[in-house]
Amino acid sequence: MIDERMYDLGNAPSAIRELFAYGLKRKAEIGEDKVFDYSIGNPSVPAPQKVADTIEELMKLPPVELHAYSPAAGIPAVRQTIADSIARRYGIPAKAGRVYMTVGAAASIAISLGAVTNAGDEVIVPSPYFPEYKVWIETMGCSIVEVPTQVPSFQLDVEAMGAAINEKTAAVIINSPNNPVGAVYTRENLEALAAMLEERGKEIGHPIYLISDEPYREITYGAEVPYVPTLYKHTIVCYSYSKSLSLPGERIGYIYVSNLMDNAKEVYTAVSGAGRALGFICTAVLFQRVMEKCVNEPSDVEAYRANRELLTKGLSELGYEFVEPDGAFYLWVRALEPDDEAFCEKAKAHELLLVPATCFKSHGWVRISYCVSADVIKRSMPAFKALMEEYK
Ligand code: PLP
Repeated sequence: MIDERMYDLGNAPSAIRELFAYGLKRKAEIGEDKVFDYSIGNPSVPAPQKVADTIEELMKLPPVELHAYSPAAGIPAVRQTIADSIARRYGIPAKAGRVYMTVGAAASIAISLGAVTNAGDEVIVPSPYFPEYKVWIETMGCSIVEVPTQVPSFQLDVEAMGAAINEKTAAVIINSPNNPVGAVYTRENLEALAAMLEERGKEIGHPIYLISDEPYREITYGAEVPYVPTLYKHTIVCYSYSKSLSLPGERIGYIYVSNLMDNAKEVYTAVSGAGRALGFICTAVLFQRVMEKCVNEPSDVEAYRANRELLTKGLSELGYEFVEPDGAFYLWVRALEPDDEAFCEKAKAHELLLVPATCFKSHGWVRISYCVSADVIKRSMPAFKALMEEYK
């Protein structure tokens, strides 16, 4: 007998992926340059040259050595390089023994949830949020508790999050810089969250783990992105090179269990166990080795910065309302009618592929993923104008 829940998940692909697939079909029908696909977050900036150079260099290794299994948590030297980089950049005593190499942020979050939750627990997620969180939380037999962020700043509503905590609360997931909104949580906001979690954890008699999903950490436009483990000791960082180094298809990232956590050793052991249980062991060895050399490569955000200027200037001139993005490469724009799905359907008629807020458990907004070429943004402005005129 097949698992009904898994069947349902397989049978209902994510709405974002469906829109992306529609875009490909539409481009084949009417021409690549006629469709303005703002659906998914596939970086348009090439990976650093050093990645290609390192791969070339690695190809000189004897194949048996190059392609061999690594230990389950990853190659020790790679974990050491990452721990050293964390320690140097954020001033905390990060150790290789708390770094677990994974298949991107997706696996990191699923593993972390597996490590710190038990069936029946609750996990708090500020909304709007990356839709896969719900899938991973429910896969662990837990319930998602959605707590809306503050509108229009989209900072965490710490008071409401505190009110949602009870004995069953095992963890909170945060994502800053944020997908889908582009907000970066301020130091003040994160400090308030940390103080609240510390206090509420004491009241309910167990720590509340903070899972910090950070694929966009490096993609910012001047805002400070505080390192969460320096503010709250029960933090597990889920990092990925998908966006920072434009390597989404290589599926490489890591989990860092903060060395400042009281029970770091136990949590890390549970992370290793969850990695094993979920089959996420010994992640892609070639890309582990690439990361050993490229971990300190800077992210190239200039193209995203230019796109952000182009898009925000163009849309504000046309009268659209949006959240000024401090990070990531998403613009959160107010739909021109309360029903964001209906609005996106109307946008589609102008060949504009926008993702409705409903996909992120919010309403009345749409997400524009602007990691596209600048040319797409320039050419799409008449379509945004025509869409606005429809509502006048
Ligand atoms: N978390 C967020 C907020 C994301 O936007 C994404 C990907 O778009 C992921 C996690 C998954 O990242 P990865 O490709 O590293 O698995």
